[in-house]
Amino acid sequence: MNNVLLRLRNISVKFDDETILDDVSLEICDKEFVTLLGPSGCGKTTTLRIIGGFVSPDKGEVWFENGLLNDVPAHKRPVNTIFQKYALFPNLNVYENVAFGLRVKKTPESEIKKTVHDMLSMVNLLGFERRDISTLSGGQQQRVAIARALAVKPRLLLLDEPLGALDLKLRKDMQVELKNIQKRLGITFIYVTHDQEEALSMSDRVVVMNNGVIQQIGTPEDIYNEPENAFVADFIGESNIVDGVMLEDYKAQFSGHTFECLDKGYAPKEQVDVVVRPEDVDIVPVEQGMLKGTVTSVTFKGVHFEIIVDIGGFKWMVQTTDYQPVGANIGLFIEPDAIHIMKKSEYSGMYGDYSSFSEDFDKLSDAEEGSDNA
Ligand code: ATP
Repeated sequence: MNNVLLRLRNISVKFDDETILDDVSLEICDKEFVTLLGPSGCGKTTTLRIIGGFVSPDKGEVWFENGLLNDVPAHKRPVNTIFQKYALFPNLNVYENVAFGLRVKKTPESEIKKTVHDMLSMVNLLGFERRDISTLSGGQQQRVAIARALAVKPRLLLLDEPLGALDLKLRKDMQVELKNIQKRLGITFIYVTHDQEEALSMSDRVVVMNNGVIQQIGTPEDIYNEPENAFVADFIGESNIVDGVMLEDYKAQFSGHTFECLDKGYAPKEQVDVVVRPEDVDIVPVEQGMLKGTVTSVTFKGVHFEIIVDIGGFKWMVQTTDYQPVGANIGLFIEPDAIHIMKKSEYSGMYGDYSSFSEDFDKLSDAEEGSDNA
């Protein structure tokens, strides 16, 4: 890989005998926006803390360009961190918060003035210099934290769920702003989130983690279209995941039908997991269906309907603009490129059936019907 800025090699960490990170290796390029994504407790923050120098790994190495960072203290690393709780200095005004790192570095006053001005301009806070931190909204505080972190021009910025405290609308706006700032300044960002949409929309590459292990590293498109295992397929977006058999190259059997697909290289009759995204399933008249089933629930989602279809006891989710009533017998048509084959893994059989989804829904609608009758 070109211009590798940061390299984690075989990092392992235990806390109280519990393995938190297990042999994590990762390379991050200069100017890249990489997101660590995974459920709560999977080890994202711990990875960030190791890079920042706040946690020492039990095993493994952290390299920055050609230098080993393991023994470099946090304040001497070419890295800065923005935490979820912005940790602004409440006794300093906006100007002094942004100037703080520069003062520590004994930067001349004229340069501090220019940098603070540039940074506040970048985050749209010119005119706020003398304001107390306590008088700022969450979004404004977040901008001060970004300006403060970038004022010292770190080569690498670590961001730990920096938008977690903001409401959805502001969060979306800040996602766009952060991405623009990152591009404009050409600083490498390592960003932690458990929000898959945020990860997909902002990152050059996404690192999906679970239980202290990297499950997949790839571009957002790779992660969505070619998930490595059932965990990744389930964690990123909605997925129907069924047991299947690769009969031969480009031929997969699942749900009682043989499908053409684009996958090859599996052993003949190899057991596999098959992913089909809900938006990639076409509804056709029942006699034309590759699969046939009965609609068990319909939810209007604004742009499309989300319908649950019972196919031989396995509940599929289909997203469609065609309304289908509950009880309708329908056919499903699946194009070869909508089928993605995955190797069996420790996650096989754990995800991908929407039974619980529709049962909950059924219970709700039963209760509603009950009240109508009363
Ligand atoms: P979240 O999204 O909830 O912040 P995360 O993926 O960032 O989760 P980490 O904060 O890295 O997860 O924590 C991973 C695991 O390590 C958790 O089970 C956590 O309780 C544990 N852990 C983290 N720091 C310590 C510590 N100092 N001592 C003991 N256990 C810890």
